[in-house]
Parts: sequence; C-alpha cells; structure tokens
Amino acid sequence: MGVRDEEIVADGPSAPQVIFRPGSSCHAIFRRSYYNTYQTYGGARGHSCAPPTFCFAGRNCMNDRSHDFLKELLETPSPSGYERPIQNVVRRWATPLADEVRTDRHGNVIASLFPQQRTPSPMKVLLAGHCDQIGLMVQHIDAEGFLYVQPIGGWDITILLGQHLTVWSKTGPIPAVLSRKAPHLLTNEERNKVPQFQDLWVDIGARNKEEADQLVRAGDPLTIALGYRPLRNNLAASPAMDDKVGLWVVMEALRLLKDRERRVAVYSVSTVQEEIGLRGAATSTYGVNPHVGIAVDVCHATDTPGNDKKQLGEIKLGGGPVLFRGPNINPHVFDELEAAAQRLGIAYQVRGVPKATGTDANAIQISREGVATGLVGIPNRYMHSPVEVVHLDDLNQAAILLTEFCASVSPEMDFTP
Ligand SMILES: [Zn+2]
Repeated sequence: MGVRDEEIVADGPSAPQVIFRPGSSCHAIFRRSYYNTYQTYGGARGHSCAPPTFCFAGRNCMNDRSHDFLKELLETPSPSGYERPIQNVVRRWATPLADEVRTDRHGNVIASLFPQQRTPSPMKVLLAGHCDQIGLMVQHIDAEGFLYVQPIGGWDITILLGQHLTVWSKTGPIPAVLSRKAPHLLTNEERNKVPQFQDLWVDIGARNKEEADQLVRAGDPLTIALGYRPLRNNLAASPAMDDKVGLWVVMEALRLLKDRERRVAVYSVSTVQEEIGLRGAATSTYGVNPHVGIAVDVCHATDTPGNDKKQLGEIKLGGGPVLFRGPNINPHVFDELEAAAQRLGIAYQVRGVPKATGTDANAIQISREGVATGLVGIPNRYMHSPVEVVHLDDLNQAAILLTEFCASVSPEMDFTP
C-alpha cells in the first residue's frame, strides 16, 4: 500500500486498519487529528489516497466492513413506522463501538460516546441520520387477490409503474409487482392522465382473495425490491440512499470517534419516521437534550440535465459533503464545520436554504429552548426513486468531517448566535 510507515493489523468496526508509528515520516506529513481519521481509510483497499485530496481517484476508499454495513443498511427494509429490522442492524453495528446503545420508546436508536474525562453534565453533540425510507402500505385486497396500496412518504407515482416490489408480511418477504394495462390497451385518456394510487394494484401472484388473505393484511408495508449496485467511478445506485447514507455517516463517525480524544459527549442517532414529518428527530432530540445537533441527509445534486442551478445551487456528486447555511443553521456550527473541512483539506460544497429545511435539522433546531444546528448534505441524484445515485467518496468525507468536528468541540464553546 502506498501510505508509508504503516502496517495492516486488523479489520473490523472497532479496530483501526493501520498502526501509526510515532516519529515516522507520516508524523511530519499528517496532523494527528487528520491522521486518526485518515488512517482507517488508507489501506482498506490496498492503495494510497494522498492527502489532501484522498479518495478522489475514482476508487472506493471505504473501509471494507463499513462498506458491507452500508450495503446491509440499503438491503434491509425500513418504511417509516416499520424500522425494527434496520434498527437491529444498527444496534449490532454500534454495540461494540459505543459506550452505550439504547432505543427510546419511539424506536430511535441512540449510540453514545462519552468524553474520556467523565463529567456530570458534559456538553452534548447529537448526530442524526434517519433510518426510515419511503414505502407503500397495503390498504385493500380485492376478490381477485390484487392489493391496493397507499404511499408512505412522497412518491412520484409514475416512477412506481413497472417496478418489482416486496411486501414485508409476517409470513416473510413476498415478491410483488406494480403495473397497469399494457400500452396497447390504454385509452387516450388513460395514457395522458397521471394515475392515482387507487387506480393501481399490486400483484403478488395470488389466485384469489382467500390466498392473498393468508399471506398479507392491511397495514403490511412494501418497498421497492431492494438492492445495491455499484456504478462506474465510485458511484452507487440503490433505493433509499435517502437516507441510509446519512445514517451510515453518523454511524461511521461513531466508529472513527471511538479512538479519538473527546471532550464532549457524542450521540449518533438513527432516527425514525423522518419521511412522514421529522418525527424521530423531534423525540430523540428532546430525550438527549443536546447543545449541538447535526443532521446528515441527502440533498439534490444538480449535475444532471434539467435541474435548475439558479434555484437549487450548484451541487455535484463527488464534490464533497454539502454544508448548509440559512435560518435552519447555527452560524457557529457552520463555521466550525467549514473550519474542520479546511483543516483536513476536504473538498466541500455550500448550499443556502432561506427557510426551514425539510430534514431532521428542522426538528432538531426547535427542540426545547433551541439547539445549535448544522446540516450536512450528501449529494443525491433521482431522490425518492428506486435508482438514487450517490458518490461513495462523499459519504466517506462526510464521516471524516463530522469526526473532526466532534473531536474539536470543547465544553467552553459558545454556540449562541
Ligand atoms: Zn426523503
């Protein structure tokens, strides 16, 4: 591997990939804070990523276990309100890393790291990534055994036509499809009209209602058929990148922070029910009662045809994490995030939003008497579709950035705007 004076020692969520040898040439090259986060990436794929632009060589620099964790998140169903399976995955990941992992009554999983110097009431930093994904719900089964569904979260209905789905029933996952009449058979009126959910049906292959009733009942959730596909140049496509990549970032930051010196308590939270109203962020932030809260969520990349940069700004895949500014963002948190990115030489993008954002950052900021809030975006193409596309380096960089931010926060910092 290309980074000098390091040796591979172990591979695992709690073990660093390489050992740092004090006094080696790396010592002069890397500041310690940089190194502590950087070290876990160099060597993961057997190549060097020279700072400050590491991970931009078009290769996947993600730690292997972390990459597997991302795939597992993406391939585990989590429609809003039905997050238990994914929270099991999160608990399994976080338990060896955190000082404490607990689940609140709403279903948020809160993985905590306390400062090494324990104090009775430390400064608290909350990192939130929502684990829920948009989905569908069974409403009605007709006499022929077809299912009628309603959306969980915001769908573009035309994108659902012709998709493979999965019904997550108590009898296990059931393959299904959603479509409509063949184009030959559509009337002109049907062809030109956007269908409504009650016009579309889900086919599980059941012979009739009786057979379907034995397998499925009202309230069962559905997702698009889940699956992760790497694309060229370190891009990847999957349903529900929104917001499993944000969840991944806050849990990867937990892994990277475990061995960093910390003067504040850090709570990495897998929040529930974001897609139906930022609900898990509201309850978990109230419960943790942090001084600082940072949400990590996908944001619209504008590097595809048809997006208006004049409206949405210029955001591209692979350009690094997006730091948001505006009334939803505490200016000190933005400044500290930007300073952390500059210290590490991490590329980042800036986006302004002149109102409350549609993310967990909104609920976090107005919890109790107010929380100093930040928002880190992961550029995402084709949001709320089965083929959301992100750049894996943007995720990595976001996790490294949050790690540096948390490690640099001190209890004396005043975040009053
Ligand atoms: Zn969303």
